[in-house]
Amino acid sequence: MTNLPTFDDVVSAAQRIQGHAHKTPVVTSRTVDEELGARVFFKCENLQRMGAFKFRGAFNALSKFTPEQRKAGVVAFSSGNHAQAIALSARLLGIPATIVMPHDAPAAKVAATKGYGGNVVIYDRYTQDREQIGRALAEQHGLTLIPPYDHPDVLAGQGTAAKELFEEVGPLDAFFVPLGGGGLLSGCALATRALSPDCMLYGVEPEAGNDGQRSFRTGSIVHIDTPKTIADGAQTQHLGQVTFPIILRDVNDILTASDTELVESMAFMASRMKLIAEPTGCLGFAAARQIKAELRGKRIGILVSGGNVDMARFASLLGI
Ligand SMILES: *Cc1c(COP(=O)(O)O)cnc(C)c1O
Repeated sequence: MTNLPTFDDVVSAAQRIQGHAHKTPVVTSRTVDEELGARVFFKCENLQRMGAFKFRGAFNALSKFTPEQRKAGVVAFSSGNHAQAIALSARLLGIPATIVMPHDAPAAKVAATKGYGGNVVIYDRYTQDREQIGRALAEQHGLTLIPPYDHPDVLAGQGTAAKELFEEVGPLDAFFVPLGGGGLLSGCALATRALSPDCMLYGVEPEAGNDGQRSFRTGSIVHIDTPKTIADGAQTQHLGQVTFPIILRDVNDILTASDTELVESMAFMASRMKLIAEPTGCLGFAAARQIKAELRGKRIGILVSGGNVDMARFASLLGI
């Protein structure tokens, strides 16, 4: 892949989203520092607009639309945070948005997407292919399709989260970032190599779906069936054509966390730090806890990627 995005694209994205996305807080905890024997900085994208970092990439991508693209509108297919990020960004920019969602998407997510002004098109997860539907809508109505991770403007936008972290706390020794299709990790990798070049950068994915780890270690993209995990933001089946080469070049390793470890980290963050993270948002912290012996005395960054978990599910995951 030639013409991969660079840190300059992250810098431009930061300018585009400024005043629209939150500069999210960086939270520290003495309890965590004691547990890990390290100085730990949590970048709280669970406190981003619509509850996840995905607002950054979506807003950046839509900001670059031409007047013709703006008029015709955007289409996205997602049951999760990307749908809400596109719907909210489109509303803020006055762009019509069509979101293709599965018939069994949680009612709260459909309602949230509609609440942000998105036009929701429902498809049957078992008999219809969402990409086909998305592409057909795009062709019929001249809409621009924005994918959830495999797009230069999306990943450049996601990288602004890491840029903010390094600008606030300075260089780090290790940085843990959740991994699905790799938009967040590749964008953060561009920022890490520019602002903290010697930092060990880890992507963290669910143990049940370690396609990213296998891809990273074999050097070619591995495809898997949709993994069964509570980390619904990282149930992707493969890395992207744009995200993978950046990850291969700039990331140090890919780690995994089990659902049990995610629940433990989620409970710890809620009870000790008063932070509500969704299961996927806990991947980074869970992995850091696994290798804490290696982190002793170091300065560590953890990206908490999102907080969209409804309270009934949160309670049942914690066994309340
Ligand atoms: C989408 C998402 C991820 C994974 O991001 P990718 O760019 O697909 O790797 C991680 N956490 C949350 C909360 C998400 O919504």
